[in-house]
Amino acid sequence: MHAREALPREDVIKFVLNCQKPNGGFGAAPNHDAHITFTLSAVQILLIEDALDKIDADQIADYIVSLHNQETGEVSGDEYGEVDTRFLYIALNCLSILGKLDRLNVEAMAKWIAACQNLDGGFGMVPGAESHAAQAFTCIGALTIAGKLDLIDGDLACWWLSERQLPEGGLNGRPEKLPDVCYSWWVLSCLAMMKKLHWINRDKLRDFILKAQDEDDGGIADREGDVADVFHTNFGLCGLSLLGTDGLDQVNPVYCLPQKVMHRVKQDPWNGKDLSK
Ligand SMILES: [Zn+2]
Repeated sequence: MHAREALPREDVIKFVLNCQKPNGGFGAAPNHDAHITFTLSAVQILLIEDALDKIDADQIADYIVSLHNQETGEVSGDEYGEVDTRFLYIALNCLSILGKLDRLNVEAMAKWIAACQNLDGGFGMVPGAESHAAQAFTCIGALTIAGKLDLIDGDLACWWLSERQLPEGGLNGRPEKLPDVCYSWWVLSCLAMMKKLHWINRDKLRDFILKAQDEDDGGIADREGDVADVFHTNFGLCGLSLLGTDGLDQVNPVYCLPQKVMHRVKQDPWNGKDLSK
């Protein structure tokens, strides 16, 4: 929103650095255990603030590699071993930002992710699990970073994703569920990566997101009439950006970061590609 200065840069960086643990990973807050999710958040925030020089990339890579099964490709979220597609996407995302993809068995990871595609075209959290739009984002994002989109049935995936649009214009995460603004990100980002944004009605979706904005506090809720929160405000804005809304910077569909910081990503597979389609 061209308002990065609205948050105090030095305080933000200090807070993030205080969340790092001796094992190299980051927690959600200074006294929390390390988790791969918050490790990516830390790296993303430092990337946006152009402060990646404040961290030791090798130490972070060591932490992520410690959660990665080099044989099967799987990645767990923390030392307790839960495995799913989110963590695999995060590992690829984080190490591509740091230019350390060679620390991962990308080939095995791509095969494991491709095995998460179901007969309906969608993707689950692990092979055989129910299709869910947020998992489509992690799987298609992971395969884009890995350069392995050819391993899946892309048209079938985009058919399932475009079926998420309901008559009122909003998108849901699974069949028979209510529409929700955050799927404007999980679904649209996939269609953008697969160059199929035109497979849904963009004007109706834009209206659905704008109606979910609270006229008093400015935030965006999951749908019209509900209470706004930071999560849906972010994904609503990112969806509006993918829809080409005036006044918003272009967001990168693979990384969910402003396109103008992407030149700092060391191994960006999307680099130089046309995002306007
Ligand atoms: Zn939501």
